[in-house]
Amino acid sequence: MDATFSMEVPEEVVHVRDWVHEFAEDVIRPAAAEWDEREETPWPIIQEAAKVGLYTPDLFVQMAAEASGLGMLVVFEEMFWGDAGIALSVLATGLAAAALAANGTPEQLGEWLPQMFGTPDEPKLAAFCSSEPGAGSDVGAVRTRAVYDEAADEWVLNGTKTWATNGGIANVHVVVASVDPELGTRGQASFIVPPGTPGLSQGQKFKKHGIRASHTAEVVLDDVRIPGELILGGRERFEQRLAKIRSGQRTASQAAMMTFERTRPVVGAMALGIARAAYEYALQYACQREQFGKKIAEFQAIAFKLADMKSRIDASRMLVWRAGWMQRNNKPFSSAEGSMAKLFASETAVYVTDEAIQILGGNGYTREYPVERMHRDAKIFTIFEGTSEIQRLVIGRALTGLPIR
Ligand SMILES: Cc1cc2nc3c(=O)[nH]c(=O)nc-3n(C[C@H](O)[C@H](O)[C@H](O)COP(=O)(O)OP(=O)(O)OC[C@H]3O[C@@H](n4cnc5c(N)ncnc54)[C@H](O)[C@@H]3O)c2cc1C
Repeated sequence: MDATFSMEVPEEVVHVRDWVHEFAEDVIRPAAAEWDEREETPWPIIQEAAKVGLYTPDLFVQMAAEASGLGMLVVFEEMFWGDAGIALSVLATGLAAAALAANGTPEQLGEWLPQMFGTPDEPKLAAFCSSEPGAGSDVGAVRTRAVYDEAADEWVLNGTKTWATNGGIANVHVVVASVDPELGTRGQASFIVPPGTPGLSQGQKFKKHGIRASHTAEVVLDDVRIPGELILGGRERFEQRLAKIRSGQRTASQAAMMTFERTRPVVGAMALGIARAAYEYALQYACQREQFGKKIAEFQAIAFKLADMKSRIDASRMLVWRAGWMQRNNKPFSSAEGSMAKLFASETAVYVTDEAIQILGGNGYTREYPVERMHRDAKIFTIFEGTSEIQRLVIGRALTGLPIR
């Protein structure tokens, strides 16, 4: 890694972080338990975020362009510190927007980014749909087909997507589909499905273990016709890429992988937010709760837990910030640093929230206290955006150069 990596947080980023923190503390935290129980999309909070300027394409673009690479990361950490389910409802659009930014042309970005977010008066959401019942970790097994209808200059999409965050309730759906199934992931592309396109419908909405305020559902694509230009990156570029692959030449990474590479540090920042929230709660509790005539934090068994929790949280932040900085400075993730950040922060969130319940004892296990919810919320981070096992495979392959399975 380059030695010029700086841990100094620019003033502009500190300012945004404090502003988002205030929103998380005042608006999100007080509503967390209610929306977790309701298992519904917290539209009033999304509207409030849009109204104050926190849920806008402008902030997204500004933070993506911010020079230190830390801007986006602190926004996500603070929001998830507030509450993971609500924060994902507000910010999952950012993941679809990342797909657009990773693979789209500047014209596509200019047209579709605003439609993903809507307006401050009428906010909208976006969804990124890659996973299918038979294609989770194995993205190459995607069966959704995109067939080009030359006469109409339209793509025709057919298939079923599953576990799509905001699936069916989004204004804009970004859908990964296979154009040439024989080429596996290399024959895939991402497509924009505009609002109200006939043939796209929501299937089952899932009831979940955690992040329950966030909507997760199947998306059914039944002869969905979209204009030819709505393939991300443009049809010409895609056809050129296919021709290269067919003639045996090397090409850049495929659609879904490009998106995941970009989002991994941000997903790490989300997990970090949950871990920090649980640690802070446990620390405060341990310094107040008394047993055997002493504060429980005075027992080494508890203090050592706090020491381990905080150490792993800070180590996670180092990894997440390093990956963010590398990305911003166009340094390749030659040791899969994005995956390292996502892996370590996710497992830290599960570990820290588990220890937080232990520190709170019986109280920690009840819904009267928030660490139980944080523990349920944390678990998704070792599963989505590439499971922990897949992250280890990616890191192992990057380190050894071997095709580890
Ligand atoms: C709440 C939620 C939100 C989601 N949001 C989205 C979304 O917005 N868009 C989207 O496209 N997807 C989304 N997903 C899907 C998510 O990305 C997948 O669940 C994830 O990629 C894992 O796929 P899978 O569930 O099919 O598990 P599988 O791939 O079946 O894996 C099962 C187990 O086998 C392990 N495994 C699989 N392959 C290997 C291997 N080669 N080596 C070692 N171990 C392996 C896995 O690590 C895991 O432990 C979401 C999922 C959930 C639950």
